[in-house]
Amino acid sequence: MADIYTMGIDLGSTTCKGVVLRNGTTVVGSSIVPSGMGTSGPEKAYEEALADAGVKREDLSIIVSTGYGRNRFEQADLVISELIAHAIGVHSMYPEARTLIDVGGHDAKAMSISERGRLENFVMNDRCAAGTGRLLEIMAKQFGVDVSEVKDLAEKAEGIVPINASCAVFAESEVIEQMSKGADIPSLAKGVCASLASRIAQLVKKLGGNGPIYMSGGVGHNTGVVKALEKELGMPVTVSVIQQLNGAYGAALYGYNRVNK
Ligand code: ADP
Repeated sequence: MADIYTMGIDLGSTTCKGVVLRNGTTVVGSSIVPSGMGTSGPEKAYEEALADAGVKREDLSIIVSTGYGRNRFEQADLVISELIAHAIGVHSMYPEARTLIDVGGHDAKAMSISERGRLENFVMNDRCAAGTGRLLEIMAKQFGVDVSEVKDLAEKAEGIVPINASCAVFAESEVIEQMSKGADIPSLAKGVCASLASRIAQLVKKLGGNGPIYMSGGVGHNTGVVKALEKELGMPVTVSVIQQLNGAYGAALYGYNRVNK
């Protein structure tokens, strides 16, 4: 029987992600590109995922889009909610997961997943940058490093400078002030990670989320945030091996189940 290829494309506010799945089981190609302006990010994510998989558009049985920009991708055959895509993705990789935390550049979500992989409940923050990856981006700029290096700074810290402001704009002023007073940058970076983790933990507590807890989204790259989150929640938080690709993977799997009914 011929192989069935499906694509999931997750159009986030910070990055666009594509996954090509073979027969609903094997990721054969993927892409992560900055969202950029207009349709450049979605188009690039789509082209790069196809190229990475070595397949052509006509080989794809279905393209399923999800994420913040999901309705603006014309090539999509089907559009699904990001929450559904994430629930499908995490349940397929980690059937034991009961809570998924997805923290991206502009929003954070905590979702309860049933034993059968259904989305039971969710809590979302898409209002306050201090509880999303945006906080790390703002602070990385102040520290003069790339966002991927904030965790390296935090790991070097011997102490911690707590961040008291609950708003990203005020937190940035607080960090600038601390830096002008000569505060140790790694300790400040650790304070930033702890501050973000405490906001994410509030979401999980509001949800009443149970373990095992898994995490997806770009912020999962930051081990400082993940460790602080485990401390806040008093339980392990496992970062999905596919991290930022979980939504796109879930969408590709949804597409496979649809065409293979
Ligand atoms: P979205 O789906 O909302 O577009 P992502 O899930 O791609 O967002 O996450 C983007 C966020 O992840 C960025 O704001 C940044 O804070 C964080 N991030 C991305 N890559 C890394 C990295 N390598 N190390 C640390 N943080 C990262």
